[in-house]
Amino acid sequence: MTSALEKYATSSVPRYTSYPTAPHFVSEFPESVYRGWLAQLDQDKPISLYLHVPFCKQMCWYCGCNMKLAARYEPVATYFKHMLDEVEMLADAMPARMPVGHLHFGGGTPTVLDPEDLATLMAVIADRFRLIEDAELAIESDPRTLTDAMVEKIGAIGFTRASFGVQEFDPKVQKAINRIQPPEMVENAMDRFRSVGVKKLNFDLIYGLPYQTAEDLRRTVEQCIEMKPDRVALFGYAHVPWVASNQKMIPTEALPTPAQRAEQARAAADALVKGGYVRIGIDHFALPGDKLAEAAKNGALHRNFQGYTPDASPTLIGIGATSIGRTPHGYVQNISETGAYMRAVDAGKLPVARGHAFKDQDELRAHVIERIMCDGKVDLTAAGRQFGVADDWYANEREAIEQLQTDGVITYASGQLALTAVGQPLARVVAAVFDTYLRNSSVRHSIAV
Ligand code: SF4
Repeated sequence: MTSALEKYATSSVPRYTSYPTAPHFVSEFPESVYRGWLAQLDQDKPISLYLHVPFCKQMCWYCGCNMKLAARYEPVATYFKHMLDEVEMLADAMPARMPVGHLHFGGGTPTVLDPEDLATLMAVIADRFRLIEDAELAIESDPRTLTDAMVEKIGAIGFTRASFGVQEFDPKVQKAINRIQPPEMVENAMDRFRSVGVKKLNFDLIYGLPYQTAEDLRRTVEQCIEMKPDRVALFGYAHVPWVASNQKMIPTEALPTPAQRAEQARAAADALVKGGYVRIGIDHFALPGDKLAEAAKNGALHRNFQGYTPDASPTLIGIGATSIGRTPHGYVQNISETGAYMRAVDAGKLPVARGHAFKDQDELRAHVIERIMCDGKVDLTAAGRQFGVADDWYANEREAIEQLQTDGVITYASGQLALTAVGQPLARVVAAVFDTYLRNSSVRHSIAV
């Protein structure tokens, strides 16, 4: 690793899918405040929906998601009924039939739902909201448990995009993470989706897994390129066993060092670029022509709780336990524990647990952090003027900016800040300079690279 990477690679920094980040939301956020925000939404501006289904049939040892194992369908069916009720409550709280431009089912594994239940939920959404023409309807899926009936239903409903957690094809790594999924299984799932009209497919890959080498990951990437997914997200495994106890099953001594992680990330990125993919932000790749690549080219890339997105809507409504939403007024997060989530819905309450109302320089700093994460550069002076503050709004950050410049991570002159080639993998570290909530916090995050 170069010295700047060595110096910053193990910094504990957020992934910045929001600002402030979720650990800084306040607990016991009043439901009435959220209802007020929903009532004020502009009926002409499309919103986005995120629906969280926190159930899986098997547990992957690396998992950091909010999920439960579901050996039987009964608990999933009960949860599903509460999602339906929540959709109705949210629709009642907003102006009638808000337009929806993006909808995303995540988890967990949303394809554990019964296909008829998925169809019912989508019918209620289509009735209470208005899916605009060319709306993106996306769903995460698990090739190991995907049934033909579900694939057919997803095609019939009109989903436009599906994603798979591929992670790594090497058998020894798959065994160590408890996710056995040979390439043929993934390819078969892709063929089935494409045959029912779901043309856009995404893969997730992970580096930093136990026993993984740069050569393993390069080979995995080459196998993926042959399957031609439209987008690939390349994430670093975040080993946080103090948060996700299942990660205790991963032997710490089998994890790659920070230098090996950096080498793996570089090997995978190089192979993807060589294979014709456009690099987007810190961890995404897309085929030229994909909406994400187009947005990156046009400076219209955004970042939300699902990562990089071409979705420019300022409103994302979270549905289901633990889901996070955003409105022009601030963020809300639903109750994480499914039992408590369902009790709140039964009581006729929007199941909000935590939230954050934008204040002070939040929106300015959110904008600056989003541009660093999306474009690798930002005009700090123009950003200040856009949000009506004095040009020296970042005076307290000057020292940190100068240090990053000295270390070769960024260039900085006349308010223009840009990541250098060395600094590209350290975008989170640079973004963290503008995070006033992080400064006085003891929250532990994953390492930067
Ligand atoms: S990684 Fe995905 S499939 Fe595996 S347990 Fe977590 S949510 Fe379920």
